This record gives sequence, structure tokens and C-alpha cells, in this order.
Amino acid sequence: MSVIKIVKYGDPVLRAKTKEVTKITSKIKKLISNMIDTMYAAGNGVGLAAPQIGESYKIFVIDIAKEGEPVNPCVFINPKIIKKSGAVVSYEGCLSFPDVYTSVRRYSDVIVKASDENGKPFTLEAKDGNLLARAIQHECDHLEGIVFIDHAINIDDAQEQLAKQGLPPINMDYILQEENLDEELKSKQENI
Ligand code: ZN
Repeated sequence: MSVIKIVKYGDPVLRAKTKEVTKITSKIKKLISNMIDTMYAAGNGVGLAAPQIGESYKIFVIDIAKEGEPVNPCVFINPKIIKKSGAVVSYEGCLSFPDVYTSVRRYSDVIVKASDENGKPFTLEAKDGNLLARAIQHECDHLEGIVFIDHAINIDDAQEQLAKQGLPPINMDYILQEENLDEELKSKQENI
């Protein structure tokens, strides 16, 4: 299908509410196929959410295959994280934030429910703060108008990264208060 231009941070569509997918129409199928093509064309992305190509639908795609491994695109429609626990520090970037990387708080274990590209429901568990667990949270956030820097551990570092790339500064209203994750991370450090 087609490679679509990826929306950059600052575009209001990244903060917009997304619509549930009620039927896998040909329009939705085309959107999914464009998302997969766009993710691979971007080269370094492990995931892409529909708002990142300007479409406010609850859909994201992930491929966590390593370089040299066969591609393995996974489609998540109307995803819902039904369980989350533990905490990890995740060093992340995002295709909508070219060359911006910073540390964010994430849960280490998640269980997500979603439907695949055929509308078949599935449940997936990802643990130990692995790439899949972190990618699922990052992409689910996109569907709620949340972006990774909203979880930034070091706001000053995130601001610096954004300024360097000529992207808009953080609006503090979006910064998430995550005391529970902070507590977990602190107790983890003490145990080392
Ligand atoms: Zn992203």
C-alpha cells in the first residue's frame, strides 16, 4: 500500500482522542497496511500508532523482531491494558520525535487485550520490562493522546533533547504524576 508521512510532536492529532474500531472495513484494512508500510519505511521504529499518521483510531502495530530476523508485524485493534505491575526505567524514542531519546517510567509487566487485523480477540502478556511490554505501553498511550515524554524522569533532559531537534517544549500540564512507579523504582534501587 503506501508509506504515509509521520506526524511530528506539536501536531494536535497526537493529543486527540481516538475512535474505537467497530468494524474491520476496507478503509480500516488499508489504514493498517499503510501503518505497517510506514513503520518499516521509518526503519528504526518498533511500533506505530494510527494518530502518528493522522488517523484518530484505536489501532497500533508493533514489530519487535531483531535485525536479521523475519519481520513479524502484530496488529492491535481497540487494545486495553487489563493488568499492570512492577516498574522499570525505559530509555525511549518515538517516530514522532525524531532523534529524541530520554528515560521514562513504565510498568514492567502488562497484560493487554485487543483484536487482530481480522477482528479476532487475543490476550497477550509481556513481562520483565522487556521490549514488548514497554512498546505496548508506549503505543497504548498514543491512543489516549499521551506521548512518551509525558512519563519523563528527567524533565530538563527531555526539554534539552526537544530543543536540540527544534521540537516544541514540554507543556507541564501533560506531565504525568506517577508516584506509585517512583516508589517501586526507589525500592528497587535500595535492594541492589
Ligand atoms: Zn511513539
